Amino acid sequence: MASQSIRRQRVHIFFFPFVGGGHFIPMIDLSRLFASHGATSVILTIPNDAAVFQNSIQRDQESGLQIHLHTLQLPPDSAVLKTTDMSAPPLTDTSCLQEPLHNLLLSRRPDCIITDTFHRWAADVIDVTGVPRIIFNGNCCFSRCCDHVLETQLPHNKVESDSEPFLLPGRPDKIKLCRSQLPIFLRNGIEFPGKSKKSEQNSFGQVINSFYALEPAYVDYYRNVTGKKTWMVGPVSLYNRNQEDKAERGQPSAIDKYSCLNWLDSHKPNSVLYVSFGSLARMSSVQIYELASGLEASGKSFIWVVGKILGIEENGEAKKHFPDGFEERISSSKRGLIIKGWAPQLLILEHESVGGFMTHCGWNSTLEAVCAGVPMITWPLSAEQFYNEKLVAEVLKIGLRVGSEEWASWNMERKVVVGREKVEAAVRRLMGDDGGEVVEMRRRAKGLAVEGRRAVEEGGSSFSDMDALIKEIESFSR
Ligand code: UDP
Repeated sequence: MASQSIRRQRVHIFFFPFVGGGHFIPMIDLSRLFASHGATSVILTIPNDAAVFQNSIQRDQESGLQIHLHTLQLPPDSAVLKTTDMSAPPLTDTSCLQEPLHNLLLSRRPDCIITDTFHRWAADVIDVTGVPRIIFNGNCCFSRCCDHVLETQLPHNKVESDSEPFLLPGRPDKIKLCRSQLPIFLRNGIEFPGKSKKSEQNSFGQVINSFYALEPAYVDYYRNVTGKKTWMVGPVSLYNRNQEDKAERGQPSAIDKYSCLNWLDSHKPNSVLYVSFGSLARMSSVQIYELASGLEASGKSFIWVVGKILGIEENGEAKKHFPDGFEERISSSKRGLIIKGWAPQLLILEHESVGGFMTHCGWNSTLEAVCAGVPMITWPLSAEQFYNEKLVAEVLKIGLRVGSEEWASWNMERKVVVGREKVEAAVRRLMGDDGGEVVEMRRRAKGLAVEGRRAVEEGGSSFSDMDALIKEIESFSR
């Protein structure tokens, strides 16, 4: 048969990222990592998105890697995907890509496709083509274990109120949560919309953006309870080694790389708090006002990315976000830098002046802070962020909580506002000079950063998992 004569030299892997930032960005890193391990990587993208990471892919190609883009043509009625700026919310319907994907798989027959779990329809379309399918869902084993226990043992149904803590049974550490911190669909006993569960069950396995030494008990637990093939291949962000890759990652930055670095250079080591809530989260103007007031009252220096959080609609009225004169005061005193748009997060986190990260605990941000050895102030908002907070603050002990208690969807206004006193107290505690607890936190965070780097270097656990996965793909494709 013809296929016998076109035996491939390299494994040929398709990557099918979802259009949301926190899912898209690590998948691009992942495809580049695979190419650096000798695979031929093909990223399936849509017209608008390709431009964002084209430069880094071109640099990889110039250095000899086999990495390519394939743009899926959008049908004329796919208005949603035409307008996305890569910050699409999790329920964005991408099913208009079914036919182009199906046809492409039949004509190109890759050895494997790694697909984001948020393409909920993709399992059916891919599985009929016979192309092996591996899932990427962007989170860590710790949060998957939380989900598993909650879904199978329902400990949250045994408490009287949303604020009463309950223990997650059967876990390596004593982890307590409240019902108010759980996703609404879980609280209400309904499945997350779509078919992602079924798609995980029938997949060949999963690649996870985390590393063994970060959460060994949870990797083992997860592998044992699910029996799924699981390759720990992160931290994928470490693939971005040069300044261009770091500065251009995700979206065009709203601040020039040099102004940002110069501003940081003018501050002492560990003196700046980086504040960002990821690619999607919104906050009400009242919450932003409290946050601004708390930051100012703390007297500490900060870089605050207010790109998306300003976007919540409040009856169409223009709202006051900052206290009077706030922007002028923090800018003239050089105490604060506000970035209204996309920030070059990796460059900022890795700068020696940055000594803390106030984060919504999105998994990428959390892992990027770990890689930079920066302790965190945790302010979870939605998704699996409350689980990640537990990992950071209670298991790894590299962060402290601001006191966010209420899970709400990315664009919903919350009932409870985190007040300025809580913000000020957390910032003073993490960024103060006298706290022995923070010295310990910093030491632990630096240690984990070393472990993370070691994992992706030759001989490291993630390096070996990546090679093992490529060999496995080779074995079933020949
Ligand atoms: N990010 C960035 N600049 C920004 C905002 C976000 O580079 O101004 C990146 C960040 O480094 C991370 C991703 O976007 O890789 C956000 O993913 P995360 O899982 O932390 O949160 P999500 O956006 O999914 O809520």
